[in-house]
Amino acid sequence: MSTQSRIRGIRILKAVGSPLRIQILNNLFDRGPLTYTELVSALKMNPSHDAGRFAYHLKSLLKADLVEADANTRKYLLTDLGKLVVETADRIDKKALHPKNILIRSSRAAIEEFDPNKIVNALIHEAKMPSEEAEKVAKEAEKQLLRAKTKYLTAPLVREVVNAILIEKGLEEYRHKLTRLGIPVYDVAIQLENQQSITQIAGQTVLKEYVLLNALPRDIADAHMSGAIHIHSLHTWILKPAEIIHDARHYFQHGLNLESIDSTKPAIPPPQNLTTALTTVFNALVHAAKETEDMQTLEYFNVFLAPYTRGTDPAVSKQALREFIIALAQHVSTGLSIELVTPDHVAKETARVPKPAGKYADYEEETQRVASQILEIIEEQSLNKPLLNPRLIIKIRPETQTNPRAHALLLKAHKLAVETGIPYFSNHTDKTQKQTVHTPTGFRLDADLDNDWETDTLRTGLLGTVTVNLPHAAVEAEKDKTRFYEIVRERIEMAARALEIKYRALRQHGKTQLPFLAQQENGDQYYRIENAARVINFAGITQAAEIFAGNPLPDDKTHSFIEETAQTIMAFINRIGRKRGKRLLPATLPAQKTNERLAIVDAERYGIGKIRYAGTRDKPYYTTIAHLNLQNNIADPLRDTLENLRAGGNLTVIELGATPEQPDQLLNITKQLLENKTEFFTYNLKQTYCINCKKISLGNLHKCPNCGSVTMLTYYNRHANT
Ligand SMILES: [Zn+2]
Repeated sequence: MSTQSRIRGIRILKAVGSPLRIQILNNLFDRGPLTYTELVSALKMNPSHDAGRFAYHLKSLLKADLVEADANTRKYLLTDLGKLVVETADRIDKKALHPKNILIRSSRAAIEEFDPNKIVNALIHEAKMPSEEAEKVAKEAEKQLLRAKTKYLTAPLVREVVNAILIEKGLEEYRHKLTRLGIPVYDVAIQLENQQSITQIAGQTVLKEYVLLNALPRDIADAHMSGAIHIHSLHTWILKPAEIIHDARHYFQHGLNLESIDSTKPAIPPPQNLTTALTTVFNALVHAAKETEDMQTLEYFNVFLAPYTRGTDPAVSKQALREFIIALAQHVSTGLSIELVTPDHVAKETARVPKPAGKYADYEEETQRVASQILEIIEEQSLNKPLLNPRLIIKIRPETQTNPRAHALLLKAHKLAVETGIPYFSNHTDKTQKQTVHTPTGFRLDADLDNDWETDTLRTGLLGTVTVNLPHAAVEAEKDKTRFYEIVRERIEMAARALEIKYRALRQHGKTQLPFLAQQENGDQYYRIENAARVINFAGITQAAEIFAGNPLPDDKTHSFIEETAQTIMAFINRIGRKRGKRLLPATLPAQKTNERLAIVDAERYGIGKIRYAGTRDKPYYTTIAHLNLQNNIADPLRDTLENLRAGGNLTVIELGATPEQPDQLLNITKQLLENKTEFFTYNLKQTYCINCKKISLGNLHKCPNCGSVTMLTYYNRHANT
């Protein structure tokens, strides 16, 4: 380097040799070009008092070629040389403060040298921030981290610092995208002490936050958080459908074609006998369970299985069924739909075992025997305590009452109901309900898309559920009915959008996330996602009406408010449904946790005095389903009023009293319920199981009547707080 250029270099250093001049350079670097006035105020100088001093320093920077003036914008900006000087000063600053570079434990579990460029890259790629702005933020973060002299720098800590800077600078949108999903160390430590699977909880927490932050628009996420709506199973919202209704014939005909999912896996051939048929169905459910959030229902189960039992010794077939049911009880939430007679629409179909072998009508005897054996097995397995899974759905048809064997089976199912409360009954006595299917969660589907019971109701199911909190809307509306319906319409629209997002996500990721359900046979995908129902569930219609009308049911004003609300909701849903695609269905489903959460959130927000609720002050909940007592008239007063609102699902629970009924007495009650057009119902038995002496007692007791234990008790009370 020549002496002359060295002299120039020193002159430049001289030019920056004043704190005020360094401040001017830093301000221009951080904020970009500034006018004279802006610069003066950025330096917190007095425009009249300090004018001379400021002008002097600015001039010397202009002379040293570190700053230039733009005549057009009348702004001062850094020259390239000026930028270089600021950057060099930073480097010197860093070296002086920290002779050694700081180390950082990165997210890839490696130790690396801290590099601010990584922050710049993250801001550009993850947050989509313009590079210039990203560099400024990174520089600020580096400065803060160095100043703090942190001994152990981790990637999450760096991210926290960057996020804090983004908030300070009002760059909240970018911060949103940079959020790190995870759970605090303390929470993990707590969960390790609990029995629940920590990997499951950690995964759920992260996915739930991801859905709230990234998959759903802000208004929907906020509505969920505030309890205005409730999105069911948020953590799998973009990953799995809620429920599947299976067609076992598919697996009887094709076996398990796992090869199409993973070429190293076996291709299981179509089953040739009863044992392999049940093993194949069990394995299909296990595979599908990984891709289904909640319930899997085997529709027409005993009808489709019946041909495999022909010629099998009844004792052998019962043992195979027993093993199947015990395996299901351990591994998969399953609904078994049981026919007591072969329904017409199935009877005329060709039976496959797996080769065509007559019609299903030819196997009525076997169908009824399988039904009988399943009822016996569940009863045997429930001797100590009720077997809650698989759940049985007993389908009642007009022929059930005229066919003597079917009637005997119905009585047998009522014996099971008296003893355990287990079976669900679905009413198909009305012509329009012939091909309707129900799952044990209350969800229902009609054959109403193409009037084809196979494509409309099988190999499809429940896509997802969003519950709309009606009392929340009622409190918010402050007794203004027009406002109330406006809010409800907004919430329904949000629910429909959330369901649309779910549908699109599953379609988009179906091939990778749902390989088993999305498998194809001759170009025909097993799971008919486009036919899956999107359910908008309504919680607390009764409580909302009470807020407006003032009195609990039975009250005419309250009742007519419920009626009007139900009609208004139907009108909204029909309008949105036309826009948002088929099968947007309203429902009143038994969802205990949701019903409790929404009431608790509202009680905390508005005060328990402001809301109406069922349950107690400490444990309030909103109601969705009908609870009837044997003492009262055995009819749901809201049945007609809410019929349309229950199109996507409903349940009527009849509480059994303290004195055990006889099966034929209960069957008489069922007949009344059928006449009242009750669609889907179950009898509930409150029971207490003592783990100490392995005995079950009637009622929810505080003390085991047998051994006196107060700590070893398990309570049975399905559909409480719904
Ligand atoms: Zn006991």
